[in-house]
Order: sequence, then C-alpha cells, then structure tokens
Amino acid sequence: MDRGRRWHLLAIAMLVLAALTLVACGDDDEDEGDGEEPAAEVEQFPASTTMGELQEAGEITIGVKYDVPPFGLNNPDTGEVEGFDVDLGNYIAERLGVEATFREATTDNRIPLLVDGTIDLILSTMTITEERDLEIDFSEPYYVANGDVLVPGDSDIQSLDDLNGNTVCTALGSTYQDTIKKEAPDAELRLVDLYSECFDQVQTGQVDAVSTDNVILTGMVIQDDTLELLGLDYTTEPYGAGIPEGDTEFKQFVDDSITEFIDSGAWQETYDEWVGQYIPEDQQQGPPDITLKEALKLFPLE
Ligand code: GLU
Repeated sequence: MDRGRRWHLLAIAMLVLAALTLVACGDDDEDEGDGEEPAAEVEQFPASTTMGELQEAGEITIGVKYDVPPFGLNNPDTGEVEGFDVDLGNYIAERLGVEATFREATTDNRIPLLVDGTIDLILSTMTITEERDLEIDFSEPYYVANGDVLVPGDSDIQSLDDLNGNTVCTALGSTYQDTIKKEAPDAELRLVDLYSECFDQVQTGQVDAVSTDNVILTGMVIQDDTLELLGLDYTTEPYGAGIPEGDTEFKQFVDDSITEFIDSGAWQETYDEWVGQYIPEDQQQGPPDITLKEALKLFPLE
C-alpha cells in the first residue's frame, strides 16, 4: 500500500472511532435517567460505618406508615408506597447510592423494629420525645405537625373539652395516648394499631372523634369530605427520623441529608405535592424552624 493510501485509511479509521465514541457517550447520557439531571456523585463511606454497610448491601430498609396518606401509604392502585416520608426516604437512599426498601412500621412497633435491626431507619410521622430518645436517637426535625381533632360533619364536638364523655380514637403508643388523657380526662380512649382503624370507626359511628396529627387527619378528610377537622392545633409535634441509639456517624449523615433536602428545594416540592395542595393558602407552612434540642423540650420525660 502506498503512503498516501495508508494515511487515507488511517484518517477514515479515526473518524469511525470518533463517531463510535460519540454514539457511546450519547447512550450513556440516556442511561442516566431519561433526560433528567445526571445523578450527583455519590460519596463512598468506609466499610466500618453504617453508611458503608448499607452501600455494601446496596439497600436501606426504611420503616414508614402504610395507611397514612399523605405521609406513608401503600397505594393499592399502584402497588407502590408513597408520601412525604417515602420521598424523604428515597432522597436519603439516593445520597447513599442504594435502593430504598420500605416496610410497614406502625406507631407501636416502629421503635422495636429499629432496635432489633429489622429496619435501618424510621420515617413514620414520629414526634421527637424525650421518652423515645431513651431508646433511639433522633435526627433534626424534618416536619412540624400539630395536634387536632376530627369529627363527623354533624357532630356537636367543637372543643377539647367536648371530648369528655365521648369516645376518641388514636393510635396505641402515640403521643396522643397521654395528651388526650390530660386534656380530656373523661373521654373514653379507643387505642388501635392503625390509623385506618380510627378512620373506619369514625365513619361508621363506632367512635365520636379521632385525635392525632393534623396531616394524618387531613389525609382522612381527603378521602371522606363529610368529616371535619376542628383546627384546634393543640400540640406541636416535630417529626424526626429514628436512628439506632449511639450511631453518631449515621445521625450526622441523616441530618446532612435533611439539610440538603430542605436547602435544595426538594422539601418544598415534596410538601406541595403531599400536603400544600390540599390545604388553604393561609395554613401553608415552610420547613421546620425548630432544633432537635428545642423539640425534645416539647415532650419532656414525666
Ligand atoms: N406524631 C405522633 C406520634 O409520633 C402521632 C402520629 C403517629 O402515631 O405516628 O406519636
């Protein structure tokens, strides 16, 4: 082959190579999420940390509610778990570069499930309290709910005092178990495992009222608009993620994730999707403006 022809062939080969490289890069871009932003670089943690162990396993198991729209709902129509707590869980999993697996964690069993290692993290509408803090650690607050009361639209109950002499449903092990005893000592408490049971019972007249966090009760009104929220806001309930006791590195990671969730605007988007769109403009709220230390003082040890 003469020299000129050799150069010619080399040039063609290089062009083909360049074209193939471009095509391959194009493919890569598509793989990174159907036109979405490419995932940010994931920090790799030492194997000795909980984050490192989760990265090794490729999975984090998170305990959420399954019957509490808009925070944690196992949606029968889609077969997917969804809600505010689920979005935050997915955000934390993404920062670790692992899959989030969700498991039902009720009010009464969420702490035992964390303590026995069945789940790695609790995101289950859980108020930060000093009593719970004895068994687990809490993240900084990621949401602030308020205590309220839900009644059928034709009910005479208009205040906490009116609960006396009536039956009130709430979840076993919830903060309301004690709060209602204090606020309405003559109310008959109906303690159940699942908030969906309270929902059924107030719809069928087996109880006169339900009391728990306003966001949980709003979820019930969305499903049945004959029910009414009294709007009492009688307690402040900062939600924290539940972390195994003493795992300071993991707590730091979860706290950093929550800060980033808030600062990136993801908190606001999540709020608008699951809560904001359902409530009037003047009742909208922003990210928590309370620290873990302050939150603990709201529910001190008795
Ligand atoms: N936030 C309250 C609590 O943690 C009520 C909601 C719930 O039961 O998860 O007790």
